[in-house]
Amino acid sequence: MPAETRDRAPWLLMYHSVAECAEDPYRITVSPARLERQLRWLRDRGLRGVGVGQLLRARAAGRGGGLVGLTFDDGYADFLSAALPLLTRYECSATAFVLPGRLGGDNGWDELGPRKPLLDAAGLRSVAAAGIEIGSHGLAHTDLTTADDATLERETADSRSVLAELTGTAPAGFCYPYGRLDSRAVAAVRAAGYCYACAIDPGPLTGMYALPRAHVDARDTSVRLYLKKVLHPLRRRALPAAPAPAETAPRDGVGR
Ligand SMILES: [Zn+2]
Repeated sequence: MPAETRDRAPWLLMYHSVAECAEDPYRITVSPARLERQLRWLRDRGLRGVGVGQLLRARAAGRGGGLVGLTFDDGYADFLSAALPLLTRYECSATAFVLPGRLGGDNGWDELGPRKPLLDAAGLRSVAAAGIEIGSHGLAHTDLTTADDATLERETADSRSVLAELTGTAPAGFCYPYGRLDSRAVAAVRAAGYCYACAIDPGPLTGMYALPRAHVDARDTSVRLYLKKVLHPLRRRALPAAPAPAETAPRDGVGR
């Protein structure tokens, strides 16, 4: 196993919505101009954004240097119109963690926030066809740590089979709604057949099924991004060795 896989967790950035937005109490919106500055900043430093599955496979093969995982949670419709064109322009890819139980709906779980439309089934297929890795964020953005057994099973296993049917590819990745997880949720995600899962700051649960991510919000500057990169290995726990997702699981690479 290459040292980079053993030694520390991969560097993963977490985005949500990409839009112009004045009112954003949950700080989930980054403007297209800011995303572009961040992608340019990464490129200028010899770094390239890719989906998490691609990043994990590259690291397992000792080729992870220079790659940064880009993740977009919730499956906002603006991914297709605002984020994807920029990712394509900068020859980056990403993982979109979507909610197959809310296709064509909105972010009704954010009580205070402005309503933002989510991708519908056709939009989701367009995103997948552009080479973006599609992962599951559960069916309906349910906190798995308070879900009963039947709900937990539906949110993990059923969301995976619905996405497999919609896109033709069973998703390799899962992402915990609200970043909330416990060992029971981790076990359910593993049992549902996923290869990895993304969290935010999973503490002692850190591992292939609880990958930490750095939150990117509208106030992030390139300098702050840089600091997050530098601090990342110091803040995060070592990642236990685990097999990378199979080569066939997600499709990666914009335009391929
Ligand atoms: Zn979410």
